[in-house]
Amino acid sequence: MKDRFGREISYLRISVTQRCNLNCVYCGKTDCAKKAAELPPESYYKIAKAFAECGIKKIRVTGGEPLVRRDVCEIVRLLRSIPQIETLALTTNGVYLKQTAKELKAAGLDSVNISLDSTDGSTYRHMTGADVLEKVLAGIDEAEHVGLSPIKINAVLMKGVNSDGAGQLIDLARERKIDVRFIELMPFSNEGEDRSRIVTGDEILRRFPFLKPVASEDGTATCYSAEGFRGRVGLISPVSHKFCSACNRVRLLCDGRVKPCLGYDAAYDVTPFLNDEETLRKEIEKIIMKKPAGHSFGSQSAAHGLNQTGG
Ligand code: SAM
Repeated sequence: MKDRFGREISYLRISVTQRCNLNCVYCGKTDCAKKAAELPPESYYKIAKAFAECGIKKIRVTGGEPLVRRDVCEIVRLLRSIPQIETLALTTNGVYLKQTAKELKAAGLDSVNISLDSTDGSTYRHMTGADVLEKVLAGIDEAEHVGLSPIKINAVLMKGVNSDGAGQLIDLARERKIDVRFIELMPFSNEGEDRSRIVTGDEILRRFPFLKPVASEDGTATCYSAEGFRGRVGLISPVSHKFCSACNRVRLLCDGRVKPCLGYDAAYDVTPFLNDEETLRKEIEKIIMKKPAGHSFGSQSAAHGLNQTGG
């Protein structure tokens, strides 16, 4: 369905947990080990089904870290059974991907985005608080092996922290059929609010002038490639080049609240309507109509960290 600004809302991101096994410097304002209420798989299914009736065609499972939930494959299996859903994707830090990729694929997952901010062990540890780079790299290999496709790497660059390693991340797109996407640092943590750290998409293009634009079906990212590259480099610039006028997404938090915009605190609980399909759909339609014209990064920061909303 269209919202009041004429945008076709077709993409739902479901954060299935707020818990995370990493503690990334730029991510959240709340404790990553903290357990917010989580719904059982059937409840996400009911809500997603109602969203699908309102025009949602793509779902991304995210978190927190979705793979810390033992029933994540059951969630994927139920979401896959919704006929209107054309694309089912998941975003993960990749730490548990090696042991889960095969089951996720069998449950019906199409594609995976893996967060990797550095290929250098000590920088990775500094940014995430954990010494698990090797596990993440093994998870990427396994995702490729079981046929999850496309595989995209998400990286957030921060000046003075990991931006010197951007070239090594770009090498992954050179050598493998993997897209590497640089997401501009958004103001969701104390580190994120330090705007002197941000590396914009334009700065990346100046630093790597061999990157040339290529056609992209990748919603928010503008895509680039270069001769001999097997994958692409994507730039996601929500801060320097706001893409709100084309925003097609809404978010479901793990506790059953629907959040129309990442940049505002408003979130609406739909759990009271779980057992009444008709009312649930109508409530969701009302919430979609509340989606604001655009975010307000720059003038205010949001109260929900990305460890709550899932990005
Ligand atoms: N745990 C999963 C993961 O690490 O991919 C899913 C949740 S995580 C919040 C989703 C994405 O948000 C990650 O790719 C992460 O890099 C990105 N992210 C978190 N905080 C951010 C920030 N302040 N600015 C830009 N991206 C951010």
